[in-house]
Amino acid sequence: MKINPDEIFDSTSFNIDRDPHIQLNEEICRRCPQRACTNCCPARCYNWDEEAQKMTFVHDGCLECGTCYVVCGQDAFTRWRYPRGGFGVAYRMT
Ligand code: SF4
Ligand code: SF4
Repeated sequence: MKINPDEIFDSTSFNIDRDPHIQLNEEICRRCPQRACTNCCPARCYNWDEEAQKMTFVHDGCLECGTCYVVCGQDAFTRWRYPRGGFGVAYRMT
């Protein structure tokens, strides 16, 4: 079965933890040669502003897939963990 990432949001809900489960050293992102996270994150949590030379990360819609952790070759995370119990994404795939 193929899954369209855009359709995942039709069957998910979020209980957003105001304490982000992922945090970045934005200075490392600013110097990153590839910024693979901006292309690989299915929830589009990472946005690079070329003009401002600034990375913006918003954890609210994170699908907890782990892709950003795998593709980042720069050790940019000052925190990467799953959300605390009761927070984060809930899937309803039935
Ligand atoms: S790949 Fe890593 S260092 Fe590069 S922009 Fe993304 S999170 Fe930052
Ligand atoms: S864990 Fe997945 S959905 Fe969450 S920020 Fe990383 S790539 Fe995006």
